[in-house]
Amino acid sequence: MGTIKEDYWDPIAGFGVTFRTMFRKVVTEQYPFEKLPTAPRFHGRHQLNRWPDGLEKCIGCELCAWACPADAIYVEGASNTEEERFSPGERYGRVYQINYLRCILCGLCIEACPTRALTMTNEYELADNNRADLIYEKSDLLAPLLPGMEQPPHPMRLGADDKAYYLGAFVPESVLSDPLPEPETGVTS
Ligand code: SF4
Ligand code: SF4
Repeated sequence: MGTIKEDYWDPIAGFGVTFRTMFRKVVTEQYPFEKLPTAPRFHGRHQLNRWPDGLEKCIGCELCAWACPADAIYVEGASNTEEERFSPGERYGRVYQINYLRCILCGLCIEACPTRALTMTNEYELADNNRADLIYEKSDLLAPLLPGMEQPPHPMRLGADDKAYYLGAFVPESVLSDPLPEPETGVTS
């Protein structure tokens, strides 16, 4: 219990805080009418990425599912065939689900992914009015087809074998078609 003097002044000091705040700039965010950008590396909804020809980067290895501490990912891999190819390797993710009722957006799954198939976007509006719609299927997570991409299944367009394909994905065609310059030996005559 304070002194009589403190008991008298405390409410007045409290109202002083209220009075001062009345003249400060309002910081209320007008969400959802005005959305502020997130930090660039904010962990939002996941995305399953594609190679430049549209084939999927996911090889159905399940490492993301094993890394997940919340058991939020379910993957079923399957084998590609020459007639029906979804990814450039042997396997692809036939079933891919993320349960956003469980996911804590920690990002351990994207660290575990060996092909950078799985990354996270900045999208944070993941609420819904029923539980079923919060289990995202592969079709919800796949990156959109950009110009030059083709909806799988289709053959590997960037090169016939693995080496040519991955070189084609990372090195521009103009560089590949140019002969490599002779290495400089540093010896002058
Ligand atoms: S972000 Fe974390 S909790 Fe969510 S699916 Fe990935 S590993 Fe699991
Ligand atoms: S997203 Fe990555 S870690 Fe997960 S199954 Fe596909 S390739 Fe493997």
